Amino acid sequence: MPQAPSLPTVKISPRGADRLKDGHVWVYRSDIVSTEGILPGSLVRVTDHRGKPLGTALYSSSSQIAIRMLSHDPVADFSALLRQRIGDAIAYRARMVQNTDAHRVVFSEADFLPGLIVDRYNDILSLQILTQAMDTEPVRLAILAELTARLHPAAIAERVDPRVRELETLAPRESGLLQGEKTSTTFTMNGVQFRYEALEGQKTGAFLDQRENYAAAAQYAHGEALDVFCYQGGFALHLAPHCSQITGVDSSRPALEVADQNAALNQTLLKGKEIEWIEANAFDLLKDYATANRRYDIIVLDPPPFAKTKRDLDAALRGYKELNLRALKMLRPGGILVTCSCSYHVSQSNFLEMLASAAIDAHRTLRLIEVRGQAKDHPILLNVPETSYLKCVIASLS
Ligand code: SAH
Repeated sequence: MPQAPSLPTVKISPRGADRLKDGHVWVYRSDIVSTEGILPGSLVRVTDHRGKPLGTALYSSSSQIAIRMLSHDPVADFSALLRQRIGDAIAYRARMVQNTDAHRVVFSEADFLPGLIVDRYNDILSLQILTQAMDTEPVRLAILAELTARLHPAAIAERVDPRVRELETLAPRESGLLQGEKTSTTFTMNGVQFRYEALEGQKTGAFLDQRENYAAAAQYAHGEALDVFCYQGGFALHLAPHCSQITGVDSSRPALEVADQNAALNQTLLKGKEIEWIEANAFDLLKDYATANRRYDIIVLDPPPFAKTKRDLDAALRGYKELNLRALKMLRPGGILVTCSCSYHVSQSNFLEMLASAAIDAHRTLRLIEVRGQAKDHPILLNVPETSYLKCVIASLS
């Protein structure tokens, strides 16, 4: 089939073409041979250096990732393709996601919609746009129309990441409602209720990628629990019904305020149990508690990403090891460690090696119970490793 003639052409180097042959969808700027006169955010035809067509892509004039592939074939109508893919993403969740009215509806490259993230929190949708191509007015309108037609949300909010807009040389924009008036709601994961404020909080609201890990961790919960880096209480609230005592720790007071409101929403589930929320630096608190000989039966560690780039890997692993070592020393025999990393640059094997080394230094023997990742509504493309980032290891102290 011939390529749509009207699209501008980007020629890429043999190394860039090899990357696409390996199933990846990105081509870096250093592998671009020519892009003359191509406007930021254009839909482009991609060819190898000899002119052989490789497919259709979205072009960014400023990101290091210059090309994000959309299709191996010509694309005549981007808007129609966008709408079809949003429909496919929704249908995939309908098959894969259970026990929740909150999930990621669209996960960028993993749903073949590079630069678009949509999360659903009950009747509110939260949208993030991360590329020039997704930011054009006709594309925005097509996205909103399709989401509205299929999901009928009470409101759609946009969460702006100013740093990403700067990197993509997009005009600054405020977070806010794009449609509807509702800005807060409650949502349910695994029978636990949470508050959602569309225009507050970190990320796009809750850490939906941990939803299945909350349920997994709850299976092994008993005795006294410590949820370190608890944010709005995701793990703590899931563990609480199974534990005699539970403490959540975070350095963010606003996050802990929501955690407390979440606990109030779940009174029936908690049967009058109080969760203690502590505002503290987790590193300092673990050190103090270890010195004071505090002991727990289950400890969750879910820190923010320590490795933002490949260069941070060694420092990140040292940080993870320090945390895990301290936690291991504070676990009672038979205790459970739930330890997470959301740094893409820390691979699963890096993380398991770090944990093994922490166990040796702590003079503890660990049995692996589960090696888990992100919830299924955050799909992983096997040939695009960057789509896989979350590790959640559940282990028991023998
Ligand atoms: N477990 C949470 C998500 C944790 S996100 C959930 O399932 O919802 C990481 C959290 O770490 C954030 O809430 C952030 O406020 C907190 N944080 C970052 N640095 C910290 C530190 N040094 N000490 C304590 N908390 C910290």
